[in-house]
Parts: sequence; structure tokens; C-alpha cells
Amino acid sequence: MKTAQLRKIHNNIQTWYQTHGRLDLPWRTTEDPYPIYLSEVMLQQTQVRTVLERYYFPFLKRFPTLKDLAEAPLDDVLKLWEGLGYYNRAKNLHKTAQILSQQVQGLPPVLPSTIEELVALPGIGKNTARAVAAFAFRRPVPIMEANVKRILCRLHQLKTPTDKALWEIAYTMIDRENPFDYNQAMMDIGATVCTATNPSCEYCPLQEICTGKNTPLIYPTRKKRTVPTKEQYIMLTLYNDKLALSQRKGKFLHGLWGFEAVEAPLCAAEYLGEVSHAYTHFKLHCKVYLYPALDREEGSYFSPQEIIKTLAISKVDEKILRLYLSCC
Ligand code: SF4
Repeated sequence: MKTAQLRKIHNNIQTWYQTHGRLDLPWRTTEDPYPIYLSEVMLQQTQVRTVLERYYFPFLKRFPTLKDLAEAPLDDVLKLWEGLGYYNRAKNLHKTAQILSQQVQGLPPVLPSTIEELVALPGIGKNTARAVAAFAFRRPVPIMEANVKRILCRLHQLKTPTDKALWEIAYTMIDRENPFDYNQAMMDIGATVCTATNPSCEYCPLQEICTGKNTPLIYPTRKKRTVPTKEQYIMLTLYNDKLALSQRKGKFLHGLWGFEAVEAPLCAAEYLGEVSHAYTHFKLHCKVYLYPALDREEGSYFSPQEIIKTLAISKVDEKILRLYLSCC
């Protein structure tokens, strides 16, 4: 693309952003790198609305600085993340805050500004590093989330491009004078104009350079995914109006509290019902049983109120708890 044409497209994008962009998102109106970084992590796999309505503000209220986050117990961090899913994100945020706290003794922890230093931190990948560099430190680097990928594929009629090819295109298009607005605008254009199923090419600031605008829906090729279903028996052990839970040790949902999965329910257990939850790679279907124990067995017991107030539990365990409460 010629320099003059690129400049014109940058102007179109800038004008579009000032008129239609989501300029008031809280992570766009701050210059503090920490909430910008937090928003980038929360927004991986999660919609803006969910992050805004339920997670971003309570998290910042409880952990207003990287130092507060570093000093908090992981259980508290997971509790604030409860329901947002992909809990490794929360653990990596916590780990990053702790690593940065140890780097300069006596000074508050700060995020680094270079991509090399950012990608060296836990949970910060290629895209998140560039997003933090562009949004928090105004570095002239492009970002590459799902909306941007879709736009680039349509602009260049790409059905199954490699990541490398997309990054190369992204670097040729970046507005180096104004990377913040450019990148934010590209995300907003992808979310509101160049949408997955109903692109509005007539309102798009990129239409004059878009070679795929006549058949946008065929770019990129959409993958069909079938996910397996896993079946589980869940045994709720009840003693003295309290339920037994343990903190998960395996890879899946590590660190969260959960009810016990068993090979087969005990004969004395009462069937309560079934709950399902869809994860990215599989669907979990649980048959839930209640076992009123006569003696206190080993383990930790909590009342439903204690579970809700103090423990970080997964979405599926929350559904199981709700089922139990609706039956008792
Ligand atoms: S012109 Fe249409 S297909 Fe091309 S980027 Fe804009 S909305 Fe997407």
C-alpha cells in the first residue's frame, strides 16, 4: 500500500474512532499501566460487557495496585475471578505482580514497557504484550485479537492465513503516529462493523482498501468444532448442615474449591438432579447426589453461605450448589 493511501486510511480510521469508538471504556481513559494490563487479561476469552459489569471494578477496588495484588493471598484473587473462567489468567496475574514486586526492593512494582520484558512474564503472550505496550506505553506496535484477525483476513481475502502472515500485514498497516487510537479503533470496527456474521461494509472506514468486501463472510474460513461430553457423578457429603469441599489439586481448575467427583454414587445417597457446563474443549455433565453423613469424615465442611461468601468455586460447582439449595 502506498504511503498516501495508508495515511488516508489512518485518517478514516481516526475519524471513525472519534465518532463511533468506545472512547469511555475505563481502561482507555487511564494512563496507569496496571488497570490496562488487568483489562487485557480479563478481556481474553471474555466479552467487554461481562468484564465491565461484574469483574473489572470489584477487582480494582480490592487490589488497586500491583503491590496490593502481589501481597494478597491467591484464594482472594481467585474469589474475585470466580465465574470469569480460565483461572490460570488470575494465577498468572498474581504471579506477575509478585515477580515485579521482588525486582526492585523498596519501590512499588511497575510493569515493564518493552515487548521482550512483557512476554517474559507469566501469562503474557505475543498479543497481550503488544496490547500493553501500545495502550499503556504508546508503543507503535499492532495488536492481534479475534476482531482484528477477521478484518485483516477480509481486507486481503485470506481464508486460512498463518499467524506469521497476519502479523506481517498488521505491522505494515499500523499507524505509528497514533498506535493507541488505531489499535482501539481496529478492535471496535471488528466488534461493531466488520462483525463475524453481518458486516456493514457501507459504514466501514476501511472499505476503499478492502478486497474481500463483496464476499466478506467467506474470510476467514470458520472451523467447525465438535466438543466431547464428560460425565461425572458428584457426591455432596452433608454433615451438620455443612457440605464437604476440597481445594482442587489437578491441572483442571487448580486452586478452586469443589465438590467431590466419585466413580459411582453410594447406595445411601439421594439423587438431586443434573447440571451441565460448557468449557472450551468439552462439555461437563454431572449427576448430583446428596449423602447425609452420620459421622464427620475427613476434609473441610462449609455452610452454603460460607461457600458463597468466602470460597472461590467454579461455575459448575456454583450450579451444583444452586441445585442443592433448590432441593433442601
Ligand atoms: S469493508 Fe466490509 S469486509 Fe472489509 S473490513 Fe470493512 S466491514 Fe470488513
